[in-house]
Amino acid sequence: MNIKITKTQNPKPIPTDDSTLGFGRIFSDHMFVMNYKKGEGWYDPRIVPYGDLALSPAAMVLHYSQTIFEGMKAYRVEGDKIQLFRPRENFKRMNLSGSRMVIPEIPEDIALEGLKQLIKLDKDWIPRSDGASLYVRPFVFACDPFVGVRPGEEYMFIIITSPSGPYYATGLNPVGIYVEESFVRAVRGGPGYTKTGGNYAASLAGQAEAQKQGLAQVLWLDGIERKYIEEVGAMNIFFVIGDEVVTPELQGGSILGGITRKSVIELCVKWGMKVTERRISIDEIAEAYKNGTLKEVFGTGTAAVISPVGMLKWGDAEMKINDNKIGEISAKLYDTLTGIQYGKIADDMGWTMAVE
Ligand SMILES: *Cc1c(COP(=O)(O)O)cnc(C)c1O
Repeated sequence: MNIKITKTQNPKPIPTDDSTLGFGRIFSDHMFVMNYKKGEGWYDPRIVPYGDLALSPAAMVLHYSQTIFEGMKAYRVEGDKIQLFRPRENFKRMNLSGSRMVIPEIPEDIALEGLKQLIKLDKDWIPRSDGASLYVRPFVFACDPFVGVRPGEEYMFIIITSPSGPYYATGLNPVGIYVEESFVRAVRGGPGYTKTGGNYAASLAGQAEAQKQGLAQVLWLDGIERKYIEEVGAMNIFFVIGDEVVTPELQGGSILGGITRKSVIELCVKWGMKVTERRISIDEIAEAYKNGTLKEVFGTGTAAVISPVGMLKWGDAEMKINDNKIGEISAKLYDTLTGIQYGKIADDMGWTMAVE
């Protein structure tokens, strides 16, 4: 499939001060778009000027949220080259999300080719400063005008990109986390393992509660027993208990399988560490805290890469982790992952893909 490119006639000024970028508010000049129609499949892949969409008020996504998305980054590396981090994993996961949400499969190769061409066209939008990157947001939604409940028959697949500043403007700071005991994010059998809009809408009330308490993120417990740890906000979670690195297992489908999570596990295995995917209850964590074996807690996700947790608030109990300092394993993982992403250390895992 040939990708038609229409360049903008009105290029926007590219921000020059990366410290003003923040996250997710500024968008580059172009976007990749492709349409789907039942009986016809995906058609008309194209790159067009970034701009508003014309949608029917009856567009199905606006009513029943049949939509999926992904999140990844493009990095500027030494010598002005550009690279992506495990992008095929993102498009695979997008199709996994799509199969749960009855969205037709997106041809991975066209999506990846569209992304590469888009990034090449907008390459001046990739920030240059340390830790900054071009955030990439692919998404799909049902757009046919129909207000009955059924899978859509028409879809749009779009990729937009957004220059983003360093996640840690003031260095890798530990965050406080609130253990949510009344709201749940996902249940076994539900769409928790997918990046679908509704999951995030459903998490907002818990997030608002955490913020009311002055804490950065919510730690979600399982939806059935309200006891087993699932994940934090839009991050997976790891604990270092004694010499074991532990993360909740994905079985059950209520936890999103992060690519950063997968990469952390693979690095720990490579380094000969003991890393386990299993069920972990909040009581086990409280016990490990009490007996002094809870050494580190950190979240993992594309945006923050590694987010050290300095405090867990569970009911009235406040567990202060590693003296609110960054742990040794958290720091080593952060340095290694960002080192590979920004081309500062050799990628012997085969994770990076050049955009050329
Ligand atoms: C995106 C996301 C993650 C992290 O996934 P990465 O692929 O590592 O970015 C974890 N949990 C949720 C709920 C997410 O949406």
